[in-house]
Amino acid sequence: MKDGAIPMIIDSHCHLKHGDAQRTEYSAETIVNIMDSVGIDKSVVFAMSTTTSCSIEMARKAVERFPDRLIPYVYALPSYTDVVLSQIEDAIFLYGFRGIKIHAGECTLAEYIIDPVIDLAGRSGVPCLIDCLGRYETIGRIAKKFSQTKIIVAHFGQYLSRDESLIEHFIKLAEGYDNILLDTSGVIIISKIGEAIKRIGAERVIFGIDGPHESPDLITFAQTELDKVRMLNLDPKDETAILGGNIANLLHI
Ligand SMILES: [Zn+2]
Repeated sequence: MKDGAIPMIIDSHCHLKHGDAQRTEYSAETIVNIMDSVGIDKSVVFAMSTTTSCSIEMARKAVERFPDRLIPYVYALPSYTDVVLSQIEDAIFLYGFRGIKIHAGECTLAEYIIDPVIDLAGRSGVPCLIDCLGRYETIGRIAKKFSQTKIIVAHFGQYLSRDESLIEHFIKLAEGYDNILLDTSGVIIISKIGEAIKRIGAERVIFGIDGPHESPDLITFAQTELDKVRMLNLDPKDETAILGGNIANLLHI
């Protein structure tokens, strides 16, 4: 950020298509309306619960509508019938996608499936945003083997976790591997965010909303996730980094 410039707020975790039971989809317009309402400058967008090629199509369409507001990630869903590595490479090198989304609920994180994707991310200089469903041993394995790949651990390890000891495993991992970053979306033990900042530094904690979400309503949900970080009363420099600076650096924005 240049001196005097207003710091950007970037949501690093926004779904064009969710992994919920209804596989809910949100239009680029809806997402940008929410952003405007709560004061978010840019959002990382991706689709899941679909093929890699469809995720590319959906994110490209959204970014075409709002090129200055939305940043595309490609969804990695390796399978036997589909060659996704070349599709992911096309997304990054032809279409300017900035990262890779991986979800353990749909894609096994077994090394023979996911390691080629993690390796490609490192070689391509894009991060992987991984929802690992609490599997800290797997994140440790991946972070150790692919030290050049930036791993953004969604939800500090597990969505809406009330298990402090589980979150502790992920903070410890981040202390051990500096290629691990922690995403604040869906973290409900908010004190753990403050604790992580003290232990690993603000530069490896990243703000995300994991929306859109209808409950209680689209705007309140986003606002609550944003307030969650602001309520930590951080040093302004750290808050600015978490709310946008860190992901901007990571994605070369
Ligand atoms: Zn998500």
